[in-house]
Amino acid sequence: MTNLTSMTMAEALKGLENKEFTSVELTQKHIDAMAQAKHLNAFITETPELALKQASESDKRRAAGNAGALDGIPIAMKDLFCTKGIRTTAASKILENFIPQYESTVSQNLLNAGTVTLGKANLDQFAMGSSNTTSHFGNVISPWKNQNSNNLDLVPGGSSGGSAAAVAARISMAATGTDTGGSIRQPAAFCGLAGIKPTYGRCSRWGIIAFSSSLDQAGAFGRTVEDAALLLKSMAGFDPKDSTSADLPVPDFAAAITGDIKGKKIGIPKEYRIDGMPDEIEKFWQQGIEMVKDAGAEIVDVSLPHTKYAVPTYYVIAPAEASSNLARYDGVKYGLRVDGEDLNSTYENTRAEGFGDEVIRRIMIGTYALSSGYYDAYYIKAQKVRRLISNDFENVFKECDALLTPTAPSAAFAIGENEDDPVKMYLNDVFTIPASLAGLPGMSVPAGLNSDGLPLGLQIIGRPWDEEMVLRVGHSIEKAANFTAQPQLTGKIAA
Ligand code: GLN
Repeated sequence: MTNLTSMTMAEALKGLENKEFTSVELTQKHIDAMAQAKHLNAFITETPELALKQASESDKRRAAGNAGALDGIPIAMKDLFCTKGIRTTAASKILENFIPQYESTVSQNLLNAGTVTLGKANLDQFAMGSSNTTSHFGNVISPWKNQNSNNLDLVPGGSSGGSAAAVAARISMAATGTDTGGSIRQPAAFCGLAGIKPTYGRCSRWGIIAFSSSLDQAGAFGRTVEDAALLLKSMAGFDPKDSTSADLPVPDFAAAITGDIKGKKIGIPKEYRIDGMPDEIEKFWQQGIEMVKDAGAEIVDVSLPHTKYAVPTYYVIAPAEASSNLARYDGVKYGLRVDGEDLNSTYENTRAEGFGDEVIRRIMIGTYALSSGYYDAYYIKAQKVRRLISNDFENVFKECDALLTPTAPSAAFAIGENEDDPVKMYLNDVFTIPASLAGLPGMSVPAGLNSDGLPLGLQIIGRPWDEEMVLRVGHSIEKAANFTAQPQLTGKIAA
């Protein structure tokens, strides 16, 4: 039997169909891999018994000829999706013991497709971060090692760091993530994975613990573009319970990748050539440009003049919305409660103890930006700049089919690095934030290793609702790059 933890999800689906192995066998191997890679801390809650039960139900469905699109595939669920009866923490102390009474639409869609839940993946607390070092449940360690200083533990990226680490370490075949400003694309880049954030509104946000409602969007990690496309297809779709979800048919994303990109126009935004960008990123970007050129695409130089305002704009809007969304955690309705002498001190005690430093920082920034007297100067101003950033994209998409940029300004850094300088940490998302502000689909594909042996990702940004083009360009880069490197610390076990 081939190694069940190293095959792709698409291969596993074929193997299940052809009865080469059962979902119980496939799932058991991944549970064993999860046990072997516990030191990575990729999961907050592991659910092996549930996984085996779901796998055996899946095998019965398949035997009866009733298999769903992803029936029997073990996946990891970011612990920001509410899962009925399974603890859902958002990596916070305030929700440490929260057991939802309902299932998020996206996770329900995946259950309907037949997936098997290995557990709830670790993340930055309330999805705030780029390194998975703000979790109440400890840091996630990347399965990758810097070959020139391999005593250092590296970050997997964030906020969906547990999801990315689990897929890269061969613990999970694929995983869900959420992306507000880069939380799927940046960890995908750091961990050598394909990660896609679809257009805002493609997936329902219902039942996803809210961070910044006008930016949050669910998406998918896979070890290949095809796997990410397959997972996204089963997650997406209109949901009357989310007024911002779009009533549009969901295309067959995996079929889209088979088309070529001959004659397509790929834009290279000059403003992404930022000051201080490391040489290796610049060179890597150039290689990516050559790859799409060789695949027959035409390169167009384009300008997105408001790019430099994206990070400051995001760090007004996201904290403002977060401060409002997080007001519900007051110790009265659910979650942690730390009693005080009166109601106000109960609020204060609960929130001081229940939220981590980064979350408190965001709530303070957001409350300030929304306070009377500052609302116009910060929040309204940021919304106006957001419109200009969106207009920039609209303009360039008149002349090109997709944009190609690096995903992040560096490869994965060491745990602890950037920790005492929040602004430096925030700048990690300089290339991913603009597409988030404009609500556009974006994906990261692994396209090479740097001189330390660490993966680097290229980002493809597309027109609204054109995930198919994003996936197609991503797939052509994937083919050209032929990225086969694997991390050193896997949970991979013999077949
Ligand atoms: N790193 C960004 C932040 O901390 C983006 C996070 C995300 O996309 N959830 O806000």
